[in-house]
Amino acid sequence: MIRGDIRSLTAYQVPDSRGMIKLDAMENPYPLPDSLRGKWAKRLAKAEINRYPDADARELRQMIAEQDGLSAENVLLGNGSDEIIQMLLMAADNSACVIPQPTFTMYELISRWLKRPVASVPLEKDFTLNAEGFVRVCAREKASIAFLSCPNNPTGNMWSRSTVAQVAESFRGILVIDEAYRPFADDTYVDMLAPNVLILRTFSKLGMAGLRLGYLLGHPDTIAHLNKVRLPYNINTLTQLSTRFFLEHFDLFEEQAKQIRAERKRVSRALMGIDGITVFPSQANFLLFRVKGADDLFEKLRDKKILIKNMNPQGGLLKECLRVTIGLPEENAAFLQALEEILA
Ligand code: PMP
Repeated sequence: MIRGDIRSLTAYQVPDSRGMIKLDAMENPYPLPDSLRGKWAKRLAKAEINRYPDADARELRQMIAEQDGLSAENVLLGNGSDEIIQMLLMAADNSACVIPQPTFTMYELISRWLKRPVASVPLEKDFTLNAEGFVRVCAREKASIAFLSCPNNPTGNMWSRSTVAQVAESFRGILVIDEAYRPFADDTYVDMLAPNVLILRTFSKLGMAGLRLGYLLGHPDTIAHLNKVRLPYNINTLTQLSTRFFLEHFDLFEEQAKQIRAERKRVSRALMGIDGITVFPSQANFLLFRVKGADDLFEKLRDKKILIKNMNPQGGLLKECLRVTIGLPEENAAFLQALEEILA
């Protein structure tokens, strides 16, 4: 009844975080201010919940497009950027998907669901990407699609403009530049947009993870074709209304992202000062660090009610690595104190 390869998969695990300081999922830790919450609730109270959502979500797409000087035709919306990854992998020509290793796991996972072969290109020891090597694998595999997460999850680093441009210029398939962590990075590669080069973004890391809204920027023709594999009404009415409302108050989220960047610097410096820890440069809202006995440390932090992400089970370059999301200043302080107590 169920395909053998699906049977042998394990479902995506979301750990129970009740009562924990939650630093595992790259969420924005700042709650919505009460003043805004009231206005938002008033807006939602008008929702015509008996009707299907606006299938085209034109106004929302227009608002999103304007942020980058584009128009609604350049924007495809997804129920989280995860759903857009799925649409891309459904629509691309039937050959391999090429990804760096390590990177965001959903590129490979969704490819497998769709029986698409995956070729991985290992990153260098310092997590840089060898563009020539990447392009070579794309050519060898006759790849139709490739993903570059800029900054990369879970390493946190941003591949240089020249590295990404080199891939964009040489690869003839669909290149998806995933800018999920754009709010925390110094640069964007949106200027590299071309008929086969697309930019993927999300509202999740910016403070709206619960709404599930991701978007793809691209050339109108490419977007129009991808739109054919989008489920009708994939963006629900509450999400459309809410995101339009929050886009009117976007300064608040940008200010929070700025605070998160400042905290990242502080936490990174503190980690650097702890003996036995190597912390890697990050342009995202999380830090990856290497420490001996990572499994044990992860569990001891969990016992102290601090939940981060253990990357060690993935092995390879992520051996002995843990990933911590930047939280509120007091949460970060609690994390650092717990870490020092455990390592003392
Ligand atoms: N891309 C990258 C690189 C990510 O790290 C994530 C979330 N961890 C996503 C996409 C998916 O985000 P969402 O589905 O919440 O938009």
